[in-house]
Amino acid sequence: MTESYVPRQPQVFALWREAQDTRTRTPLGGIYYLIAWLLTWAFSNDPVALLATGLVGTVIFALLLALRLLHRLPDEQTPAALNRWLNHHWLLILSTALAWGMAHALVQTQPLFSNSTMIATLSTIAFSTALTFTFSMRKRHAILALLLIYLPGLFSLALDWQAHYAIVITLGFYLSYLLLALNRSHREYRSTLTLELQLLDQRERLDQLSRTDSLTQLGNRYQFNSLFPVMLANAQRQSQPLSLVLLDIDFFKRINDEFGHTCGDRCLSDFAERMRQNFRRDSDTLLRLGGEEFGILMPNTPLEQARLLAEQFRQALEREGFDVTGATLPLTASLGVGCYDTQRDSSAEGFFKRVDDALYQAKAAGRNRLELA
Ligand code: GH3
Ligand code: MG
Ligand code: MG
Repeated sequence: MTESYVPRQPQVFALWREAQDTRTRTPLGGIYYLIAWLLTWAFSNDPVALLATGLVGTVIFALLLALRLLHRLPDEQTPAALNRWLNHHWLLILSTALAWGMAHALVQTQPLFSNSTMIATLSTIAFSTALTFTFSMRKRHAILALLLIYLPGLFSLALDWQAHYAIVITLGFYLSYLLLALNRSHREYRSTLTLELQLLDQRERLDQLSRTDSLTQLGNRYQFNSLFPVMLANAQRQSQPLSLVLLDIDFFKRINDEFGHTCGDRCLSDFAERMRQNFRRDSDTLLRLGGEEFGILMPNTPLEQARLLAEQFRQALEREGFDVTGATLPLTASLGVGCYDTQRDSSAEGFFKRVDDALYQAKAAGRNRLELA
């Protein structure tokens, strides 16, 4: 499974997986239909007398094989595109099944093939068995293909009941086994798919968890480290501004010292909630970068707009403080705000340092203020 191409959405994943499996399993069968036909023809009573029939069969099976090989998976991974591809590919599988079924029936009725009836019947059994276990992804399609391979020969054998009743009865029983096995094989395929989906989902959730700060539910440092360069590259490519706000709570240690660590924790999650209320755009990414340090990545946001929003946040915090068991404690933060500038910033690290320096200046200048980088 190529990791980068795995669709995440369950419905698309199931179709994508099925298309992949159908595609990888289909060429081998195609080759053997052609070989089986060539053997049936070559070992017939008189291959030269059967030249026209032999060639027509060869062309049909070669053509069907070529179509299977040429039928590439769609680039577009939408349910509609994948379904369309699967329907077309099943048309090829069903056509091959019908072609073989008719070939087997022909061999049974044409006396010049009497030396190779065994080859054709054995091949029919082999193909129907292989199909049962290989193409059980779609049950109804597979049953239809199985019947197309199997029934024409069976009927033509049954036409001469006296001569063939033993083999017809045996083949009938074998068909019932194949149908039951197909049913089970289909269930197994589907449950493997469900399991794979659950694993994918779990991996997704673990990944999400590893990027989320458990106290505040904001993105964590790891999330910042992976997102920051990507957002910067996007901003550069699209020539759009990317702003960064860094915030550090002032004198936070005192809250811990005076009211305890639990209260400090509550203050941090409260702070995060206020950030969510202030920076509401879907494209803004809110992060807890460390202890009482936070950040906001704001794509497509010029410096002035970022400054206004950050200043509004600072003022609200100063005004409202932090509620702790009835009392309101003063709570402020210092902020650094900057916008990526290709003239000044040679790298993501350079840009971060410029904004971090602004935050440091805000602290040095007395705290509870915003400095532009
Ligand atoms: P400054 O204005 O200079 O930023 O002062 P400050 O006290 O906010 O900064 P300092 O770096 O001295 O202290 C940060 C404090 O944040 C110390 C640490 O115990 C506390 N802290 C860090 N992470 C957590 C946390 O997850 N929960 C709690 N309750 N406190 C934390
Ligand atoms: Mg700090
Ligand atoms: Mg601090």
